[in-house]
Amino acid sequence: MKPGLEAIIGLEVHLQLRTRSKLFCACRNAYGAPPNTQTCPVCLGLPGALPVLNGEAVRMGIALGLAVGARIRERSTFYRKQYFYPDLPKGYQITQGPVALVEGGVLEIPGDPAVRPGSGPVRIGLERAHLEEDAGKSSHDQRPEATLVDLNRAGVPLLEVVGAPDLRSPQEASDFLKALHRLVVFLGICEGNLEEGGFRCDANVSLRRVGEATFGTRVEVKNLNSFRFVKQALAFEIERQATLLGAEGTVVQETRGWDSERGETRSQRSKEAAMDYRYFPEPDLPALDVTEAEIAAVRSALPELPEARSLRWRSAFGLGADEAATLLQDPAFAGYFEALAAASGHGKAAAHWMLGEVSRTLNERGSGIEAFPVTPAALAELVCLVETRQISFGTAKDQVYPALVAGEGSAATIVARKGLAQVSDRAAIERLVAQVLAANPGPVAQFRAGKTSLQGFLVGQILKAGGGRLDPKAVNEVLAEGLARE
Ligand code: ADP
Ligand code: MG
Ligand code: ZN
Repeated sequence: MKPGLEAIIGLEVHLQLRTRSKLFCACRNAYGAPPNTQTCPVCLGLPGALPVLNGEAVRMGIALGLAVGARIRERSTFYRKQYFYPDLPKGYQITQGPVALVEGGVLEIPGDPAVRPGSGPVRIGLERAHLEEDAGKSSHDQRPEATLVDLNRAGVPLLEVVGAPDLRSPQEASDFLKALHRLVVFLGICEGNLEEGGFRCDANVSLRRVGEATFGTRVEVKNLNSFRFVKQALAFEIERQATLLGAEGTVVQETRGWDSERGETRSQRSKEAAMDYRYFPEPDLPALDVTEAEIAAVRSALPELPEARSLRWRSAFGLGADEAATLLQDPAFAGYFEALAAASGHGKAAAHWMLGEVSRTLNERGSGIEAFPVTPAALAELVCLVETRQISFGTAKDQVYPALVAGEGSAATIVARKGLAQVSDRAAIERLVAQVLAANPGPVAQFRAGKTSLQGFLVGQILKAGGGRLDPKAVNEVLAEGLARE
């Protein structure tokens, strides 16, 4: 982007809540069922059917609010947002829009050094989060002559999270989205599947001259169903707006869609064409009242949040921030690590196994930790064999671990069966050291003449003679003694 210009970005995220039933009826809330099998008079909008609010969805909204330090409104209200679309059977969507359950709150992100030189983490504000129902789904590409409508999704609970215009670059937008994603997945309120539409993001972006106090005209970009698309679409849009402003043109307030194949945003509708939804209070639902006791109950049931876990691991196990962040990629993976660290008593080593071998296995198999065949306790045994120097890390990694994953018994059994135990027996090592020293008179003489760098070569020869099973630390000690003698 041109120097002197600054990008202002605010994200709106719709996340599907993981409730058992829909927001206003008892229909199952589950993705992937045969079309139109999860519907009832309420979510089909049949005359006379009355909505009843799902308390589980309210508690999930409160959980997010508490996790970001927001205010939970004692009384919030529902409205009808009216528009016509084939997948909206009632002709309106029930939403909290104007008076939201959750107000304010913050999420911390790293802060992009490209736009905030020298800045540490930055706090990004949330404007609000509100409950609303999802619409059904239209498919335009299954039959050439028709559009198909599936109403299983109609009435599924959504929490719309509206971020403040505090983000300053595509990188920050992507970091914010990832932080929010991780939070809601760890809270257990959202599955976070971007491709299936369980976590949908719209990005608002405008430009202004650095130092200017007011914001420029914003454009809303839709159809961003991956973290990468959010970055790409915003980068494209920022360039497009910068070019317009540089040519003395103006940015038009509009909604644009991201075309991932062509790598560009395209106009969908302008502000003039924006719909008037004619919001009015939903007469079939009372106001939503939340008591202090209900909020306290949600607070006491909150799991340990990712940020808190990261800090705990960093101080207890000496992990780096990046290591902790990678271990926190999903709750099950983090839970496995936690169990492995506890069972082995070696947190740092447990982290290295998770980030190294275990991750590699999962990548190769294209599966999650849920399908990993080795229990934390069984892997802990292997971790301990290495940490207590009964086998070398190389042996553990190349020979024991693959056998463990293949189900060939416990780590100790595999080590015994394959005869892999590391030799730390002093007498055995001394014999080998003597042999190698005798076989290498040249290097030994050079070493004694002062070329101490040859110690590495000699250690290598000894380890090789020991078939890779010698304890390197013991070898170094015995060798040093041997070289010092005579
Ligand atoms: P709407 O009701 O049209 O969606 P909102 O006031 O709810 O408008 O704002 C929607 C989003 O737009 C918020 O995420 C906010 O951070 C962002 N936003 C508002 N103004 C700007 C701006 N000038 N540039 C970029 N983002 C903005
Ligand atoms: Mg909005
Ligand atoms: Zn229903």
